[in-house]
Amino acid sequence: MNPTLSELEAKATRKKAAFGGDAHIVCDNLVRIYKTEGVEVVALQGLDLAIDKGELVAIVGASGSGKSTLLNVLSGLDVPTAGVARVAGTDLLSMSAKDRLRYRRSVVGFIWQQTARNLLPYLTARENVELPMKLAGGGGRQAGAGAGGPQGRAGAGAGAGAGAGGGRERRERAGELLELLGVGSCANRKPSEMSGGEQQRVAIAVALANSPQLILADEPTGELDSETSEQVFDALRKANRELGVTVVIVTHDPLVSEQVDRTVGIRDGRTSSETLRREDAEGQIIAEEYAVLDRVGRLQLPRDFMNALEMERRVRLELESDHIGVWPAREEPSSD
Ligand code: ADP
Ligand code: MG
Repeated sequence: MNPTLSELEAKATRKKAAFGGDAHIVCDNLVRIYKTEGVEVVALQGLDLAIDKGELVAIVGASGSGKSTLLNVLSGLDVPTAGVARVAGTDLLSMSAKDRLRYRRSVVGFIWQQTARNLLPYLTARENVELPMKLAGGGGRQAGAGAGGPQGRAGAGAGAGAGAGGGRERRERAGELLELLGVGSCANRKPSEMSGGEQQRVAIAVALANSPQLILADEPTGELDSETSEQVFDALRKANRELGVTVVIVTHDPLVSEQVDRTVGIRDGRTSSETLRREDAEGQIIAEEYAVLDRVGRLQLPRDFMNALEMERRVRLELESDHIGVWPAREEPSSD
């Protein structure tokens, strides 16, 4: 007997709910198609990703592989074409404009590659960090108690009057964040009076101002030298460890993989590999790279492996007792 439409729908929903479970970030079969002047670009083509609360994850991949598109979706700036994108239980495809604003103000913090884009040039570092708190209308520290506590608690009692007390709290919190990220001495300086690395660390403080649950950074060290980059990564790690905030960093920096627990490789709009870092019995750090297998069994072979054996279009698979062999297709003698 054929299943009814509603049975099929129920089945499809069940299957979706299963992937990623209650992970902090869940992307399931995420698709983003850009249409410009009649040309379609599929920037994300069925991307799956699950990240747990409190994880520190790096995302790597060639230029054009879809990294920024993914981050823009997760930040609530862009809406995907299809699939599931969920952060902290919020469905990023169906949320209302009002929820989107709230989401972007208090659930997620964003750091751009361009240092100039992160900070207002005519404000000091401290004032830059205070600004998002003012916009959210709180008195600082409001969501410190944990998840699900958006803006407005601390300032709520006083109604519209987030007066001198709120201002002092904001100033204190801004000072503490700058201190935590190692740029306390920059508090009264404007961006033009800081180095690029200092500006990016202040930008992290700005992103953390409203106690978000998630920090997204799109190539935050792309304009910095390696030593300064190190300090910016340190600051992101500190935010992750000491504040428990989930951190996702898009980067070109190959060294980053050695410093984060998990590195996700993106190729052609799909997650293609994961590098997991762990300590062995002797305390040595081991990084192991895996190919990502999706639920229907697709995986991407590394391009250089395919090139080395001239694999194209077809490969032959053989099941062994403990692995699967992949061979180039045999040259069939042509019959005509
Ligand atoms: P990455 O950050 O990995 O370099 P992007 O996410 O920026 O990659 O881009 C992925 C693909 O989508 C690229 O082919 C890019 O040209 C295309 N793309 C990105 N943004 C837009 C846009 N706003 N309009 C049209 N195409 C876009
Ligand atoms: Mg990019």
